[in-house]
Amino acid sequence: MIITEKFDNYTIAEVIKAYLIDGESHRNIQRKILGLPAPTKGGGFVAMDLLHHYNIHGDKKGLLNKKSISELNTSDDLEFKKALDMINEFNLIKEEAEEYYIINQEINKNNNPTESKNNIKVRAYQNKLREIVLDNYNSTCSICEINKSDLLVCSHIKPWMADKEQRLNPQNAICFCVLHDKMFARGYFSIDSKYNIIFGPKSDNQIKKLLNNLKFKEPKVNKPDISFLEYHYNEICN
Ligand SMILES: [Zn+2]
Repeated sequence: MIITEKFDNYTIAEVIKAYLIDGESHRNIQRKILGLPAPTKGGGFVAMDLLHHYNIHGDKKGLLNKKSISELNTSDDLEFKKALDMINEFNLIKEEAEEYYIINQEINKNNNPTESKNNIKVRAYQNKLREIVLDNYNSTCSICEINKSDLLVCSHIKPWMADKEQRLNPQNAICFCVLHDKMFARGYFSIDSKYNIIFGPKSDNQIKKLLNNLKFKEPKVNKPDISFLEYHYNEICN
């Protein structure tokens, strides 16, 4: 497995940012961001591997303190450019996440209102969205009876990467169990405008049989937006 597949994009962006902007050491990054042990001797190799994947070596440590992203983006180094794009993306999502989190703090009395704005990170948002969506679906898969929290997924209808504007919209998310999440994400089935399960060309009789007696259970509020479902059927199932 290549190193970038071991971590999600947010974690990777955090690593890149910590090195290029904050000039953190490999060891600190490995410990604080990747949550892995980093002994004094030989520590930080995972973080180093990850940065090397993007051609980020020692000469680039703290580089973004001296130069701007746009100045550096003229480089011919495609992997390094990818790293810069990830920082841009990260900043954007973080801003959106902060706004969204603040709105939800007001409507959700269970939130801790004293939490510092600086602590609000993408992960906080992701957890928050998951909480909202799971609650909305009574912490049960929307098409089967699975209700074990560690088997439930807050699944995006329009993929996270496909539409920046809709990432934070609970109407773009459905609670599925891990199996149904994968089947949905891979386009084995979709949901139509009347919230019936529909099949794409990829589905064979086995898949149809498996889902035959199941019905989509509508959530309490924030029903899936029809336009996202249409997108899912047209782009993911076909
Ligand atoms: Zn399920």
